[in-house]
Amino acid sequence: MIEEKKKIVDNFGRPHTYLRISLTDRCNLRCFYCMPEEGIELMEKPNIMSLEEIINLTRIFRDLGVETVRLTGGEPLVRKNFGFLAEELAKLGVTLKITTNGIMLDKYLDLFQKIGLRKISLSLDTLDKAKSVFITKRDYFERILKNLEKALQMDMQVKLNIVLIKGVNDNEINDFIQLTKEKDLTVKFIEFMPFKGNKWDWSKGVGKQEILDTVSGRFGNIEELENPRHSTSSNFKVKGHVGSFAIVSTITNPFCSDCNRIRVTADGKMMNCLFANSETDLLTPLRNGDKMEDLIINAIKTKKYSRDGMDVKMDAEHYEQNRSMISIGG
Ligand code: SAM
Ligand code: SF4
Ligand code: SF4
Repeated sequence: MIEEKKKIVDNFGRPHTYLRISLTDRCNLRCFYCMPEEGIELMEKPNIMSLEEIINLTRIFRDLGVETVRLTGGEPLVRKNFGFLAEELAKLGVTLKITTNGIMLDKYLDLFQKIGLRKISLSLDTLDKAKSVFITKRDYFERILKNLEKALQMDMQVKLNIVLIKGVNDNEINDFIQLTKEKDLTVKFIEFMPFKGNKWDWSKGVGKQEILDTVSGRFGNIEELENPRHSTSSNFKVKGHVGSFAIVSTITNPFCSDCNRIRVTADGKMMNCLFANSETDLLTPLRNGDKMEDLIINAIKTKKYSRDGMDVKMDAEHYEQNRSMISIGG
């Protein structure tokens, strides 16, 4: 009898085929909604997965049915020898994607083209330079815009990630939508989420309905697009625009029912959910040469249905025990 291939399926029957790997907890920006004001205790080097360990672990996940791998961080492009890593991961036959702040993107676009990495999520919370400096506490605005243009010229599929914060960038919703008139990109509005140390309070957030009202108030008819399977956002288009827009409504309208995501932090801990406050150490057994498959398969069985059990509301006692976003890998 042929043994059935092992897969990563949780107790709700959801196959997990999407892995997000954080390559580092370091970053060249300090976005206030992500990085706590007091900073974070950085991971010590021996505790961070080596490039070989990342490749080996990805191979194990691929053999368990993972099809898509997103590289994230911190800022994934600050990881030493990032180019080598991306090339090796591409050889594993998974669909590679990346989430980046774009500062170092120009250095890697040719490589991305060569290895077939075309899906880039680029964080750009504002179209205003002074505001960018306020949000990121660094001055890289022009460089990021230039790299965005380069990526578009090279026909990359770009999504702009925009975390909307009231009184900061909520007045730019329609400026971002205006970008989609002629540019073939998606602007993705993300509801502000709570993580350890980011002083979350939903009164600072902007919800899905408010975003839709703002866009339709100015542009009129909005077309709702079909959401691909496992999509974490609802997707729309203003009639006649080349590009589209999306809303990640984790707070007001969570999209967990079809979740297929697993996260691995830079220090090799598996997290079942963005809001998980328990983790499974994969790095120690990997270094010991232990069998990993059953460990991973059993770990996913502890996954909760939605938002790590915060089904109804976000609970400070829960999310304050979690990591900061910068050390999870968003
Ligand atoms: N440094 C890269 C970047 O900024 O694109 C990758 C890592 S970053 C943690 C991944 C994504 O998480 C970014 O798009 C960022 O905007 C988002 N993010 C960070 N903190 C967030 C929060 N509190 N709420 C919602 N999204 C957040
Ligand atoms: Fe860095 Fe990305 Fe977090 Fe901004 S959102 S501080 S760029 S990891
Ligand atoms: Fe999946 Fe957790 Fe995100 Fe919901 S909140 S989509 S369960 S990772």
